[in-house]
Amino acid sequence: MPRLFLDVDGVFADFVGGACRVHSREVSTVDCWDFHRDRWGISDTEFWQPIVHEGAKFWERLDLLPWAESLLEYVRSIEHNFSCISWLTAKPGWQGAEAAKMSWIRRLDKNYPILFSSNKAEHCKAIDDILVDDCEANVKAWREAGGFAILFPAPWNANDYITDKVAYIRGSMIQLVTNCKKEFAVIDTGNKKEFESGMVRNSAEGKVEFDRVFDGPLFERWATHLTRGAAVYPDLPDGRPNWTLANGQAELNRFRRSAVRHFVQAIRGDTDEDHFAAVCFNMNGMLYVQQRMAENN
Ligand SMILES: [Mg+2]
Repeated sequence: MPRLFLDVDGVFADFVGGACRVHSREVSTVDCWDFHRDRWGISDTEFWQPIVHEGAKFWERLDLLPWAESLLEYVRSIEHNFSCISWLTAKPGWQGAEAAKMSWIRRLDKNYPILFSSNKAEHCKAIDDILVDDCEANVKAWREAGGFAILFPAPWNANDYITDKVAYIRGSMIQLVTNCKKEFAVIDTGNKKEFESGMVRNSAEGKVEFDRVFDGPLFERWATHLTRGAAVYPDLPDGRPNWTLANGQAELNRFRRSAVRHFVQAIRGDTDEDHFAAVCFNMNGMLYVQQRMAENN
């Protein structure tokens, strides 16, 4: 069964709020990971000095993040899907902080084991080890170690655009737990919806609604454009579309240039080709090549 590892600071504990308090700074100034260097213009030593000076009191004063209790409630509702759930938090670099941090966690939860680590990825031992963490570097290292990792949305990472953080975790967890299953199963996410008829299903909250792309005329026109395109540029002998051979910067540039040209032609009303559909084709081509290039790096 999968194991789940939960980060503390930035996911449950308002570490940034505490840091802003001791430095008399506004939380709104924090929008990147190294905010003390890049936004406040202070060194690591200058950042940590007042926190270390405050000692255990710093951790005692740390607030719960607004979603912490509902997130923990959700985790508890799905804990039967995991062989073990642990707190996995950064190891503080000074005496006494570890005990204070442990006390903070224990006020929130009395059951899950607490692990301190300066290298979280060392705890990733299997493909179905799952980490929830707000640090992009931790998430990357965990994935490189072979596990699954969910980047918890925060102003200092790429998932900042996600507003409903708990719904995002629910949606991601459903997919991950499904992937981890060795056999097909009906997933109990612990979040059910009952219809007026009495039918009970898992909640759709946080799940991608793929059916929405069928609304309006564009999807059918895109499919038609691809079908006609296959007649002009035949599929490969193994059945793959010819355009999926694209794998480098030259092809990426070509997709980009074509996307822009078709966009202009669509807006000005040209009807010699389906330029709306061609924009979709070329944008998809761009994403496809970008993904291939990233995988090859
Ligand atoms: Mg964190």
